[in-house]
Amino acid sequence: MTSIDIEVGLSDEDNEVRATAHKFAEEVLRPAGTALDRLTDPADVIAADSPLWDCLKQYYELGFGALMLDAEMEPIAKARLCCIVNEELAWGDVGLAITCGLSNFHQPWVQQAGDLALIERFCDADNATIGCWALTEPDHGSDTVTFTEKHFSDPAIKANCVASKDGDSYVIQGQKAAWVSNGTIADIAVLFCTLDQSQGFKGGGVFLVPLDLPGVGRPNPLDKMGQRSLNQGEIFFDGVRVPESHMVLGPELYSIGLETMLSHGNGGMAQLFVGVARAAYDHALAYAKERVQGGVPIIEHQSVKSRLFKMFSKVEAARALARRVATYNAVNMPQIAHCIAAKTFVTNSAFEVASDALQIYGGNGLSREYPIEKLLRDARASMIEDGCNELLSIIGAGRL
Ligand SMILES: Cc1cc2nc3c(=O)[nH]c(=O)nc-3n(C[C@H](O)[C@H](O)[C@H](O)COP(=O)(O)OP(=O)(O)OC[C@H]3O[C@@H](n4cnc5c(N)ncnc54)[C@H](O)[C@@H]3O)c2cc1C
Repeated sequence: MTSIDIEVGLSDEDNEVRATAHKFAEEVLRPAGTALDRLTDPADVIAADSPLWDCLKQYYELGFGALMLDAEMEPIAKARLCCIVNEELAWGDVGLAITCGLSNFHQPWVQQAGDLALIERFCDADNATIGCWALTEPDHGSDTVTFTEKHFSDPAIKANCVASKDGDSYVIQGQKAAWVSNGTIADIAVLFCTLDQSQGFKGGGVFLVPLDLPGVGRPNPLDKMGQRSLNQGEIFFDGVRVPESHMVLGPELYSIGLETMLSHGNGGMAQLFVGVARAAYDHALAYAKERVQGGVPIIEHQSVKSRLFKMFSKVEAARALARRVATYNAVNMPQIAHCIAAKTFVTNSAFEVASDALQIYGGNGLSREYPIEKLLRDARASMIEDGCNELLSIIGAGRL
């Protein structure tokens, strides 16, 4: 039994959306993600003939982009439906699910900034533009995230990317790390960088930076172990000038903005990696029913059976926590400790379930002919993505 069916109170329409998401995941995202994972050159992931573009196109045509931004729908019902969709898409391929989900990440920030030209250009439903979140720097990963810790306000720790006021503009100088998801294809960056260096990272600001501005460079797509279908790459800013109206937050609200961003990001990661855990569990269950050893399908062996049940239980617990946090966040200021608990629990569970699935596959689990080794690599990356799990736990503990 796949572990999806006990949610109560879903409408016919919800079930239809879920069926559409599942079909898209199975028929489009999973084969495309598998093909992209095999490419040796990460530049090919974003090449003109890459299946990535069709995935993005279909994501919008099927209405998932609009669902994520829907401001009319009842918030708790919407949050639950988004959880269902995110789980399904990530069940297909998590790298592509992130690519698609992140693509309109910039829109609420653009709306909040209120610059009409930016809104017209980057929030036009008929002309989808792609966004990214640029926070991590070459010399500063966890440093940029751990806003509850002392080093966050240490001016001796120098950022790699700094914005300075110049008349009625800001000039951005420096670099963001190769870890910026969608960094290689984005039209606009939501850039978290340092503004007041005397406050360390606490003196940050959030800027909207169209990535066709003079001085922006994006030379190298990242080659990595897992989530290879998710394009990532460094962004250079060489005297990039943006008007004042492109600043969304300044130092006085930066820590709160980062906390809110991390909370929503971690809540979203939890929803997605339920799908990865479920994919690994589903594969393992099917394989255990087929693979015969000792004259019987291996599911008949007690240790395999009990391992499968532990995997099933982890998927159920992960889903319950991810949805609880999502529905709370839909109508409240997010509680970061809960969001982090969901992200760390779900991503750790996804890795454990994928690892158990590999064990059930035996030697075939290690073979690239089978899907499990990819799921294990995809899940492993999630324990670092959006903050290393151990550092996130320190932030969460700071709120207990
Ligand atoms: C798949 C993926 C997608 C990503 N997408 C994005 C994105 O879209 N945008 C973006 O900006 N970034 C993104 N990131 C970057 C991610 O947020 C960082 O990798 C993460 O914050 C960790 O930073 P780091 O890799 O520099 O590790 P480091 O900070 O160098 O940490 C290295 C190790 O040291 C430990 N450590 C660090 N500081 C401390 C401390 N103070 N106390 C104790 N231990 C410590 C860490 O736990 C870790 O084990 C992504 C990463 C991945 C893997």
